[in-house]
Amino acid sequence: MTAPFPALPELAGQPYFQYRNNVLYAEDVPLDHLAGQLGTPLYVYSRAALKAAWETYRSAIGQRPVLVCYGMKANSTLAVLKEFARLGAGFDIVSGGELKRALAAGADSSKIVFSGVGKQAWEMRDALAAQVKCFNVESEAELHRLSEVALDLGVRAPVSLRVNPDVDAQTHPYISTGLKENKFGIAIESALDAYRVAQSLPGLDIVGVDCHIGSQLTDITPYFDALEKLLDLIEKLDQTGIRIKHLDLGGGLGIRYTDETPPSPKALLDRVFERLNARGQGHLQLVLEPGRSLVGNAGVLLTTVQYLKHAEARNFAIVDAAMNDLLRPALYEAFHGVRALRPRAGKPTEYDIVGPVCESADWLARQRLLTLEQGDVLAVESAGAYSMAMASNYNTRTRAAEAMVDGDKYYVVRQRETLDDLLRGESTLP
Ligand SMILES: *Cc1c(COP(=O)(O)O)cnc(C)c1O
Repeated sequence: MTAPFPALPELAGQPYFQYRNNVLYAEDVPLDHLAGQLGTPLYVYSRAALKAAWETYRSAIGQRPVLVCYGMKANSTLAVLKEFARLGAGFDIVSGGELKRALAAGADSSKIVFSGVGKQAWEMRDALAAQVKCFNVESEAELHRLSEVALDLGVRAPVSLRVNPDVDAQTHPYISTGLKENKFGIAIESALDAYRVAQSLPGLDIVGVDCHIGSQLTDITPYFDALEKLLDLIEKLDQTGIRIKHLDLGGGLGIRYTDETPPSPKALLDRVFERLNARGQGHLQLVLEPGRSLVGNAGVLLTTVQYLKHAEARNFAIVDAAMNDLLRPALYEAFHGVRALRPRAGKPTEYDIVGPVCESADWLARQRLLTLEQGDVLAVESAGAYSMAMASNYNTRTRAAEAMVDGDKYYVVRQRETLDDLLRGESTLP
């Protein structure tokens, strides 16, 4: 008898999570042990997997002038940030809150870039006080505000303009950001004018050009559609006497959730530098802002089967994790693999894996062949990115705990929220 999924030795793209004697391990820690000790739902990360993902970038870079700024909105848990800070990463932040987290994790602020369409004055002040590397500015109005805030503090703000190159990243519409109709960036046709405005403002110092075209890109072509347009812009800027120091191509490299074959950092970098050199811009520093590809396959979400429900049209495994813990399936109909921590022999049944939240969108996986009993613990794969970071308290559910495995040890890196935590700060009328 061969069960269809557990027969595979490793999870899709997650080599640090493997079966040994029919028990799923994270590195050298059996996950059923962790679930027993810490309860579920539980996020588990592998420190070695984080390091390995970082290494794919580091080794691809070699001696080339590249700064990798971890796109920390993918997973902003302090322990995760700390690992990347230790490895020498910079950070791409999108809020004053993320700045605070990055600094708390020991980030080198000279390697922080600040992205986002809606920066408020206080966020600009905090980032200027921290002396971040660059503000990725997304509108003319933001240029004016930033210049004023900087002058107020008696400094000049280093800026790149986030240019919207109008390329189709060929990814899910909710995570595509480089098309004309997206809210992000400054249209490529208006970019030169916006740079002139930036040049005229006394509180700004132009340092770069930036773009970020989307997420979960599994094809390299859109990057190069964007790159050629940015290089055209850089040439025009040169002619206008505006010399930039760095080119930021954003994040977006995809990961394997099931059978995708995303391009490697090396494939991307080799071709980017080939193009930069071919167009006489080999001196530019390249900035990348990868999020998902550094963390996505370094984590799983453990969840316990509460009930098996055999309805007429479907079989449901109702588990203790829900859309408030992992929103991606509800938000993008995203696919996450699901495995039992201790796969059972026996004929598999097709299940929809659903949570207890009162929404039909509350599902984690659909139509998966599994052999399950009540009380079994499952691992939801590829849950390191945009998972805990998007967790909410919907249905007054506490957010899950998080653990990081390191060899045969594990550390609780975020305690499970308590119900008292949820009520804190609320009051009723007298
Ligand atoms: C979300 C985001 C990233 C990271 O994207 P990934 O697809 O996770 O690599 C990088 N830069 C910006 C501006 C972002 O908004």
